[in-house]
Amino acid sequence: MAVSQVASPQRSLRYLKGVGPQRFARLNQLGLDTVQDLCLYAPRRYEDRSHLAMIRELRAGEWAVVRGTVLAAGVRRGRRRQTIVEAAVGDRSGVLRCLWFHQPYLAQQLKVGQDVVLYGQPEAGARMQMIHPELERVEPDEEPSSDQASSWGESLHMGRIVPVYSLVGGLTQRWFRRLVATVLEAVADTLEDPLPVPLRELHEWPEVSSAVRQLHFPPAWPALESARQRLAFDELLLLQLGLAQRRARTVSVQKPQRYQLEGPCTQVLRQQLPFQLTSGQQRALHDLLADLARPYPMSRLLQGDVGCGKTIVMLWLVAAAVQSDGQVAIMAPTELLAEQHARTARHLFKSLDISITLLTHGVPATQRHRLITEVAAGRINVVIGTQALLQPDVTFRRLALVIIDEQHKFGVVQRAQLAKKGAAPDVLVVTATPIPRTLALTVYGDLEISTIPDQPPGRAPIITRCVAEAQREQAYANVREQLARGRQGYVVYPLVDAASETSSATKELRAATAMAKQLRDEIFPECRIGLLHGQMRPKEKERIMQAFVSGEIQLLVSTVIVEVGLDVPNATVMVIEHPDRFGLAQLHQLRGRIGRSHDPACCWLVTGEVDDDIGQRLRAFVQTTDGFVLAEHDLDQRGPGHLRGSQQHGWIRFRIADFMKDRALLELARDEATRLLRHDPQLRNPEYRVLRQQLSRPGS
Ligand code: ADP
Ligand code: MG
Repeated sequence: MAVSQVASPQRSLRYLKGVGPQRFARLNQLGLDTVQDLCLYAPRRYEDRSHLAMIRELRAGEWAVVRGTVLAAGVRRGRRRQTIVEAAVGDRSGVLRCLWFHQPYLAQQLKVGQDVVLYGQPEAGARMQMIHPELERVEPDEEPSSDQASSWGESLHMGRIVPVYSLVGGLTQRWFRRLVATVLEAVADTLEDPLPVPLRELHEWPEVSSAVRQLHFPPAWPALESARQRLAFDELLLLQLGLAQRRARTVSVQKPQRYQLEGPCTQVLRQQLPFQLTSGQQRALHDLLADLARPYPMSRLLQGDVGCGKTIVMLWLVAAAVQSDGQVAIMAPTELLAEQHARTARHLFKSLDISITLLTHGVPATQRHRLITEVAAGRINVVIGTQALLQPDVTFRRLALVIIDEQHKFGVVQRAQLAKKGAAPDVLVVTATPIPRTLALTVYGDLEISTIPDQPPGRAPIITRCVAEAQREQAYANVREQLARGRQGYVVYPLVDAASETSSATKELRAATAMAKQLRDEIFPECRIGLLHGQMRPKEKERIMQAFVSGEIQLLVSTVIVEVGLDVPNATVMVIEHPDRFGLAQLHQLRGRIGRSHDPACCWLVTGEVDDDIGQRLRAFVQTTDGFVLAEHDLDQRGPGHLRGSQQHGWIRFRIADFMKDRALLELARDEATRLLRHDPQLRNPEYRVLRQQLSRPGS
């Protein structure tokens, strides 16, 4: 590879000597196209090969670098005709046996008298040996650890902290390392530093050129971490600047709706309210009403743990919109929840002449046609529904406010789809699954965030108990006792997707159905038991739910369709079957159906044998009812890819930053981005030139 060919950071790797079409295709598989991509391709891990060990001191199993002279070498055929290259390498202290399989070409490098450096894991045989050590030839007086700045020389692979990359078949570590070294040598100094000097100096970060060098060939561990951090920060800063600019664009939009924050609807709400808002609710409401009053559309996320009382805050906004002659659309992930919201809203506003309608897939065609005509004409004030709201023939006359409840069950796409049905409507998304800060700052980074941190006063704690199949009776005894005291309960089965027709879903449904029968006939013959699942007709579902709300049904046996949003405060006990089949967030949501009153509540998990990972998850669940702690735990265990919404987002893939490790850096990037843009919204200052260029590049 001739250095001069590397030329500029934007140059394609394809033109480098030694790359060729095949290797270029493989580099492409790694997402590497340009010289710059290669510079920022962080090693997967590093190996410390900086200390030379004496052969006599080698210990079995401990990776080591040794330097010695080839005393003897040869090729032979082993069993099944494999070629084995064998060599004896000696230093002042002893002799090491080395073996390589299927690599006959190595024999040429192993001439007797040749000095070599070896890196491998020693094994104790008849004498100490290494199988497949990494091999490097050195000149007799060459110091492998010499660190000449101008040339990486032979010391690329030995005598230093050595990078190890994620590669695909057909590329070797040694070849790749050399490619990186060549490229770095040619272009590292020409990389333009995006960070303004004061910022870099404040954090004592290296310049981009040396950061990139140290990322690949770190002289020492501390230097590596500081280089990595600095480059991760670059990446995060760009992301945050992009998000901040997107927020800024929203602010420049004029919305048509003007709000009357006080009026007949809010007045009725105040009178109807059976409780005082908590201070968390008040603060959130304050944010939201301030948003409505602004000339540009709201885009805000309201988060708060299960049961903190988000519904009333939503309905307050509904009241403000309706008395201002705007239409409102509320979307919820399940019919049950949509119905519940419709019920709550109708009840609260019953003294007013407000038309509230429910629009789900369950609404019969003729009725639906009439409904959507009314909505389109603006004669219906509030439409509450499921994804059915997204259908193209659902249109509004003056859609002022869009609310999406349990946003984590939807994707970002649906949010945008619903908002498009109005002219710059205000958008509020609501979630009970606490969004870990990292996601709040990335996937949801274009939203303002309000949090309700408290729970209504007087809530009794929920006790969670995990019992084995054999102790199932304990759970039943508790259910019996609660029901006898006039309380209600749930028994939940893990039917993951009620709409799916897969055989396993059917099987689980049968299990829930059979269970309901057994509970009814044998276990709680004295109780009124209802069955609720996703494959029931909507009318039937609603009837069962109504019966549960009214207390006519005491124990509701159901699939996971009760997971989100349902609010029956009299329910104080829940039994979850096969809890291992649920994620933590889901378990937390389910458990949130109880513990909504002053009475103590109990959640029982009935498990069979579970493996370690699941055991750990369930233990975490038993130990805390804090949704935020659980969400972080989930993120730690499973990574962000599992979180809903992220998949649809065209997930932000970091090159260098690490979602888990760099949380603090992410905060810092957010603050810096805000500060930079406050001083210089267009980033016109010459010291931001590189940042500005990188921002305008597609894909950033
Ligand atoms: P979530 O935040 O999970 O959506 P909900 O809005 O369903 O919670 O509220 C849970 C329960 O708490 C409801 O029964 C609601 O009436 C009640 N609630 C809400 N706010 C308060 C409050 N400030 N004081 C007492 N009860 C409240
Ligand atoms: Mg809710």
